[in-house]
Amino acid sequence: MKLSFIGVGYVGLVTGACMAEMGHTVICADIDKKKIAKLRKGVMPIYELGLEELVARNVKAGRLSFTTSVRDAVMKSEVVFSAVGTPEDKKTGRADLRYVYAVAESFGKYLGKDFKILVNKSTVPVGTAEKVTKIIRKASGKKINFEVVSNPEFLREGAAIDDFLKPDRVVVGTSSEQARAIMEKVYQPLAKAGHPVMFTDVKSAEIIKYASNAFLATKITFANEIANLCELTGGNVKEVARGMGLDARIGNRFLLAGIGYGGSCFPKDVKALIQTAKDYDYNFRVVSAVDAVNTKQKMKPFEILKKRLKNLKGKKIVVWGLSFKPQTDDVREAPALYLIPAFLKAGAVVHAFDPVAEENAKIALAGQAVTFHDGAYNAVQDADALVIMTEWDEFRTIDFDKLKESMKGKLIIDGRNILDRAAVESTGFEYVGIGV
Ligand code: NAD
Repeated sequence: MKLSFIGVGYVGLVTGACMAEMGHTVICADIDKKKIAKLRKGVMPIYELGLEELVARNVKAGRLSFTTSVRDAVMKSEVVFSAVGTPEDKKTGRADLRYVYAVAESFGKYLGKDFKILVNKSTVPVGTAEKVTKIIRKASGKKINFEVVSNPEFLREGAAIDDFLKPDRVVVGTSSEQARAIMEKVYQPLAKAGHPVMFTDVKSAEIIKYASNAFLATKITFANEIANLCELTGGNVKEVARGMGLDARIGNRFLLAGIGYGGSCFPKDVKALIQTAKDYDYNFRVVSAVDAVNTKQKMKPFEILKKRLKNLKGKKIVVWGLSFKPQTDDVREAPALYLIPAFLKAGAVVHAFDPVAEENAKIALAGQAVTFHDGAYNAVQDADALVIMTEWDEFRTIDFDKLKESMKGKLIIDGRNILDRAAVESTGFEYVGIGV
């Protein structure tokens, strides 16, 4: 089938390339000229394992191309996927839908006579498809043949290709048999491979995405609160989580306690769901509590440092890990973006290292006096304390002899509970985890 993706970010690029891998012909369009120029040269604008090879293979096969012309992309395809960002509106907590609406306008403007589908892949509040439909009608200036479908994306950065090609489920919300039949054809390769493709109504599909993300954020936050309780009562949250996770009704995933969730999805989606509920005069108490607890949890390393070092003025604090999770260069809403400014404000000297997220962190922390290093051990020279904020594998196997030679202090704060307390303490370092 001829498909196009408008918005070539983490979701648009990965899903577009995967659709090409499934045999479709895909045009990826973005208004960011630099991004498209890079992609045309085979340079990936994001870090995602396996993506470069996937893109190269499909470009070579003639199934994948890149353009800055949204017009071309709309006109040349049967199904148009909108995968633009829906960031948090920092004033209201709502999803900012301006990019989604801009795509709807373009779609309306460039639609021809043949029936065409606009698939919303972005995470958008319930009711957005209805608004988008109105925008398209207005932009087209004539009665036209189209449908807006909701097909939220569930891939995780760091495992995005596998998540798309081997999904737990695909959710598609349609309002006609015609659109359903076309979407069945789009996802036929995944359905044939045994992956559930669930069809539902548009509003339910829109809600499924927010409900899933809010539920996962709640599970993480529940584990974090159990960790906070373990700190007060004794007990080890890793053991508690293991014991809970063996119950098949609970499961062991998303029970790892730490310094809170970040990223481009959970924080904004949790906030947007709270606002959607408010719009309907409903107080979504559970999710509001999750948001409040997580905001506090992110700052735990700062509280620990204040308690242990008393005055942070002039103290050298080293941060390992800037991305919101490992295997990605995405720093959006990462705890590091909140903690580093707090350390600096308290007078600390901050040095940092991340295996891949340094460039994005430099942009996000522009104007903050952070010194970045190109190796984990280069960063720790004369450090008073080391704070692990992201669970990159290379931080799991620390060379403590090297660390001892370089660091001045002995304090290690393990914000992701990736180290073993006894093993760390046996080397003479002081260990602080989260609820362990
Ligand atoms: P992103 O910011 O990485 O990419 C968005 C892209 O859209 C950018 O390249 C931007 O230039 C482009 N764009 C904006 N307006 C445009 C327009 N009018 N025409 C063409 N291109 C335009 O965003 P993302 O992380 O890929 O997220 C996209 C959506 O998918 C969001 O709603 C997000 O919540 C959702 N989502 C993200 C993830 C994830 O892991 N990142 C997972 C599931 C769902």
